Amino acid sequence: MKTFIDNYIDFISDNKTERRCTEASIRLAEAKGYRNIESCTSLKAGDKVYVNKMDKSLILFNIGKDDISRGMNILGAHIDSPRLDAKQRPVYEEKIYKTGIVYLNTHYYGGIKKYQWVAIPLALDGVVVKTDGTRVNVAIGEDPGDPVFCISDILPHIAQEQMKKPASEFIEAEKLDAVLACYPNVKDYKDPEKDAYKAGDGKEKVLKFFEEKYGIGEEDFASAELELVPAGRARYLGIGKTLVVGYGQDDRVCAYTSLIAMLEGKTESRTSCCILADKEEIGSAGATGMNSHLLDNAVAEVVARLDVKVNPELAVRRALANSYMLSSDVNTAFDPLNPTLYDRYNSSYLGRGVVFNKYTGARGKSGASDANPEFIAKVRGLLYDNDVHFQNAELAKVDVGGGGTIAHYAAEYGMQVLDCGVSVLSMHAPWEITSAYDIEQAYKCYKAFLQLD
Ligand code: MN
Ligand code: MN
Repeated sequence: MKTFIDNYIDFISDNKTERRCTEASIRLAEAKGYRNIESCTSLKAGDKVYVNKMDKSLILFNIGKDDISRGMNILGAHIDSPRLDAKQRPVYEEKIYKTGIVYLNTHYYGGIKKYQWVAIPLALDGVVVKTDGTRVNVAIGEDPGDPVFCISDILPHIAQEQMKKPASEFIEAEKLDAVLACYPNVKDYKDPEKDAYKAGDGKEKVLKFFEEKYGIGEEDFASAELELVPAGRARYLGIGKTLVVGYGQDDRVCAYTSLIAMLEGKTESRTSCCILADKEEIGSAGATGMNSHLLDNAVAEVVARLDVKVNPELAVRRALANSYMLSSDVNTAFDPLNPTLYDRYNSSYLGRGVVFNKYTGARGKSGASDANPEFIAKVRGLLYDNDVHFQNAELAKVDVGGGGTIAHYAAEYGMQVLDCGVSVLSMHAPWEITSAYDIEQAYKCYKAFLQLD
């Protein structure tokens, strides 16, 4: 019998990219009776629909009994995580030294410590789209029989110069190129002067592999989204299995718990909504990020199919402005190895429940959406009633640094928003740590929240 945490571990192991999360979430949603909104002409209480934006973000609705103008209960998480993206001309062969090494040239995505991404196995996951519109899924490195890729680093014994550099310059971004293959062309070891090296041979073999396995040519990488992510499955961490270690738990730990809470939710008075957004890690940019009309367009599609009393434009605005939202995103867990970074009375701790962040931001709350105490009180009361364990926290000590979530984009519509998620130790590292207890509490919290009237 699989536990909730076992299923969570499977979900984040199988779905490391926003595309995979969207696809898997649609599959789970359809199994629970959700339909693509495009196939529905009208909607009524109890109907369950989703809006799929470019296969990279997803918004689900469970239509409530009340007029939607009264507002929705929204869970908003993001499904993109820091990683290394392949450039549009990614495959190159080192030719000067005739090593025969073929590299994948990358551009990092989101906030990473570059040195953490070298010398670990990486998997390649994404899509290549051909000019005829055919979309080819590329996935190498997760099946046990697959090869993986890796960025090399310097042997410590000869790294004196490198070791003098600050960590931010330790590994240059342009050197975050993964070894794709090595074809050294050693043909005559008895006569080392005889040059068996043929420039371009290795690259040709790599391109031939992509051609034969996926039917794509080098020029097709121009219209591709290929992501290098840490290879391997998430696991329980530590004796007693109280922790989970896995890639991209920011923010798939909140995305998964929000999604399952949504899918298991009943028809409530207020319409339930779950947002799984893309691009949060780079400022919620683009059409699939929350700094766009993603949400209001989706709500407009819902309203257009409902029997609303006021004009639809006003209904959309009221539905958004009267909504309650938990911006389900993660918070830094207090780290006893680096305690001076935190205000220990206003930090979140592994295993102490979901985290409320009244505000995020930096340098005097700049960029924060600062939740209203009236709303926090409402959520707090709800969690007491439902016996959900929560804690209040800030990211770190004041002026140590800062960050944002999707909360302030949602707040622009005039709704009540509170950041509420799971605490994560070594956040944004290739392998992040969470507490199994917190994951369960987040799920309980989100489930109760959708019932809020
Ligand atoms: Mn996040
Ligand atoms: Mn993040």
